[in-house]
Amino acid sequence: MAPHTIIKAAEWTLTAESGEGAPQATFSAICLKCGAEAEPADGERLPVEVWTLKHTGLHPTHRQFKAATEYFWRVDPAPGNPYLAAEGQGVQP
Ligand SMILES: [Zn+2]
Repeated sequence: MAPHTIIKAAEWTLTAESGEGAPQATFSAICLKCGAEAEPADGERLPVEVWTLKHTGLHPTHRQFKAATEYFWRVDPAPGNPYLAAEGQGVQP
């Protein structure tokens, strides 16, 4: 059986990525008037909020922003998926 056939038949689970170096979320904002972008901030939105307020302070007519929050997901084999047992033994199925 080809590997892609096994993957289609297997069970997978989706969870939030919590591995080393993975931020819980990344926050960002873009000014809708001029396109200026805040430096994206990992794990806290306050720096982006402060940037937004300062931006409007410098440019009083720039008052609308597109704010975005990015989350990171991962997919792992569920019980019954042959990849689960294989990864526990350090081999690829
Ligand atoms: Zn602006």
